[in-house]
Parts: sequence; structure tokens; C-alpha cells
Amino acid sequence: MHEYSLVQALLEQVDRQARAHRATAVHRLHVSVGELSGVEVQLLETAYDTFRARTLCAGAALEVRPVPARWACPGCGQELRAGQALRCPDCGRPARLEAGDEIVLDRIEMEVP
Ligand SMILES: [Zn+2]
Repeated sequence: MHEYSLVQALLEQVDRQARAHRATAVHRLHVSVGELSGVEVQLLETAYDTFRARTLCAGAALEVRPVPARWACPGCGQELRAGQALRCPDCGRPARLEAGDEIVLDRIEMEVP
């Protein structure tokens, strides 16, 4: 499943960061999930609960911040709302996706001695 490999990659990333900072524990992860990323937040949380055992994240909460899709015109920079025709009303250019298709590890709260 998509979410499972994502969580494994996420845990590896956290593990690397934690080791680099010589952290002894991880308290909380902050992750942004775009609404067009194709990730089901609930599945992501389930996958996280499955894989975090016996990792540094075993006791860490997962905070998911949903990111709405945002479109803009590559010509004039005008923001276009989803639901509108995805073409700029002024210059007619097709809209470009500015946000909403990403999954980003924003922040790790960890215990650094
Ligand atoms: Zn435009």
C-alpha cells in the first residue's frame, strides 16, 4: 500500500535526523499532507501505528496538517480557486498547481540531551 511505503520512508528520515542530533527520544512529528497527494490521512495514521513500534518514534504522536490545493496562473501569478475553470480569466494560461500535492515532514520534536 502507498501509505505503508510512505511511512517507512518517513521513519527512516526521522531516524537519520534523530541520530544526527543524538536525540534519545522523539515526541512528535509534524507532517503536511496535500489534498491532492493521493494519501488517505487515516491510512497514513494506521500505517504509522503499525511501523513505529521499536523505532525512536514508538512514543511519538503524529500531527497531520492537511494542505488544500492551491492553483495560480504562471503568467500573472493570480491565484485561482479549485472549482473554477483551471485557466486564468485574464491571460488564459492554464493554471499551475502551487500547493496540495506534497507530503512534507515539517518538524520533529525530539529529546536532545
Ligand atoms: Zn494570468
